Amino acid sequence: MSVREERMAAGSAATQGVDMLALDLLHIPGIGRETALRLQRLGLSTVRDLLLYLPRRYEDTRELTTLASLTYGSLNTASVQIRTVSTRESPRRRMVLTVAELEDASGTAEAVWFNQRYLERQLRPGETYIVSGKVERSKGGAVFRNPQFEHASDMQQHVGRITPVYPETEGITSKFLRTKIGQLKSWIPALPDVLPVRIRTECALLDLQEALRRVHFPESFAEIEEARRRLAFEELFCVGLVVEQARRRRLAESSIAIPYDVDYARERVARLPFHLTDGQRVVTHEIFQDLAKPHAMNRLLQGDVGSGKTVVAMLAASMTCHAGHQVAFMAPTELLARQHHATLNALLEGEDIPVRLLVGSMTEGAKREVADFAATAIPTIIVGTHALLEERIQPSRLGLVIIDEQHRFGVEQRQILRKKGVLPPNFLAMTATPIPRSLALTKYGDLDLSVLTERPAMRGKVVTEVIRGSTHDAAFLAAREQLALGHQVFVICPIIEESEDLDGVMSVTTEMERLSQGPFAQYRLGILHGRLSGREKDEVMEQFRAHTLDVLVTTSVVEVGVDVPNATVMIIESADRFGLAQLHQFRGRVGRGSATSYCYLIQESADELATQRLQAVAATESGFLLAEQDLRLRGHGEIGGLRQHGDSMFRIADLLDAALLQEAQHAASSWLDDDPELRAHAPLHEAMRAYQYVLDLD
Ligand code: ADP
Ligand code: MG
Repeated sequence: MSVREERMAAGSAATQGVDMLALDLLHIPGIGRETALRLQRLGLSTVRDLLLYLPRRYEDTRELTTLASLTYGSLNTASVQIRTVSTRESPRRRMVLTVAELEDASGTAEAVWFNQRYLERQLRPGETYIVSGKVERSKGGAVFRNPQFEHASDMQQHVGRITPVYPETEGITSKFLRTKIGQLKSWIPALPDVLPVRIRTECALLDLQEALRRVHFPESFAEIEEARRRLAFEELFCVGLVVEQARRRRLAESSIAIPYDVDYARERVARLPFHLTDGQRVVTHEIFQDLAKPHAMNRLLQGDVGSGKTVVAMLAASMTCHAGHQVAFMAPTELLARQHHATLNALLEGEDIPVRLLVGSMTEGAKREVADFAATAIPTIIVGTHALLEERIQPSRLGLVIIDEQHRFGVEQRQILRKKGVLPPNFLAMTATPIPRSLALTKYGDLDLSVLTERPAMRGKVVTEVIRGSTHDAAFLAAREQLALGHQVFVICPIIEESEDLDGVMSVTTEMERLSQGPFAQYRLGILHGRLSGREKDEVMEQFRAHTLDVLVTTSVVEVGVDVPNATVMIIESADRFGLAQLHQFRGRVGRGSATSYCYLIQESADELATQRLQAVAATESGFLLAEQDLRLRGHGEIGGLRQHGDSMFRIADLLDAALLQEAQHAASSWLDDDPELRAHAPLHEAMRAYQYVLDLD
């Protein structure tokens, strides 16, 4: 350590003030301009960033072996003396080899590093080191390959302990990060603790300082776990606060109340062409009660594909119109908007509720007509696509906004539609993407959840099978049987045209050719993909719905919402190229009638993870379980590591840890009772800024 470094390390928060935390890492000894830029790539600009940087995982090299008892092929850690160090070039492989001869009381071994010439100056013969790395057998005996090493002392930082391994980038190793964090650790106490003492005490949580000490310099895995719990709690607590605050604000604001006319509801339900499932009954009742309240409803209706969400939306819409208000019903595609328009018209037959359609491909005149109609006070349901967002659409008595497949829309789009009312309208979002409660919180903020778990009873089941590319034909044979019975078939391909970059991936155009000449030669095939115009897509879809087409070869455009009960086979080419939720959505396109349906997942790669993921789809019919499985396979909730990856904003919190989530939400709620404006604890107030994005949703 240089004198400067030493002074730096010795400085304490008390003597130098907390500004040190905001200090640019560029000013830290040993960090030059280039290194600082690299650190920025990891999101590390200041001392604070570095101290709060969390390991991805840990390596346990506490257990030492002697050189006489090394295990070949695996990781070994030993305390050794270096006898000699030499460097030579390997002419054949154009590499610089640094070789050290090692010894301990039991025997000798060698260590080899590649292309790290500078090591020759670092490693001092005669001194004792802890080395740790994979050991292989060679002619001369045991060889450590590229081992980690560190001078033996009573303060091991890199080997001989539980070592944090951080997310790295080119030129920034964990060893470097450990050294820097070690050098700056006296500043940890200066970090303000976001969690108030009362909450820490009540929930038995470590303070931030101790948690970080354990994260960066752990003595045991139990210590790490306790630190992880505390850091995860903080995230969940903060999100809980934001969401609960928004909820309280919403409840205090008045909105349009839709009286619950029980007689009308009964009569309306009785006129449906089928009996509601118990789930639909419960959820509809929930929605009616919520609509009747003086503040705006803010509800997410989560129901697996095919659970029958549309009819629930229709009932909410008709109750709203019955009360004299208007409804805007937005779907992500023209295809779906048209389908909903048709469904609602059919279900509302004989009732005096005009249902209007508004989609981009309509003529200017037709759109203007809908806009004019919306501006009148006539109770109506306007079903549409993004076209509903246009400025000129200003419903004068908007009482309810419904968004289907809401995950397909951005925050702003949902927002624009909700702002169209004079008073904040009631809001009902629908999704088939089942997500754990915790994720729903961070994605949607303050939303009440209604869940449809069962599917209408007379529905056929869906048998799912994973098929390796080579045994492909089995799927088409089975499909032909179904076609012979008068059913219809979907075939999904990941791309539109053959491409050189994606060799071996089936495209709709090639598949279409192959199928129309081969297995499905005597049937009527249609093709659907994103390059067709809205009108063309609708035409093809309409033909398929009307059964003038038997087979629909399509890209993922068909994914959401499409309802053709006579279709009983879903074949998905290169299924491993799709996400699990998406595969589940595709599968949801069949099994909508009473007949048994079949879903074939054709696996392209032989990859182990691909197999696992597809098997997971085959093994469960529940989209909810699948979503959890997906999170697991993608590495959320990894044991031991602290950092999560994926699309979640949580750095640490395990999205599947429902108990901790509940505890944190409870704590947030109780804290707000005492401190509704979040002014009592400055660091908390400060931290909330980072979480405000959750509020963008309201
Ligand atoms: P999703 O929840 O995926 O949007 P839909 O609303 O499209 O599902 O409904 C799927 C199919 O189930 C539609 O054909 C619909 O008419 C039918 N359906 C909905 N509810 C029932 C019910 N209670 N009994 C029988 N069929 C129903
Ligand atoms: Mg739907």
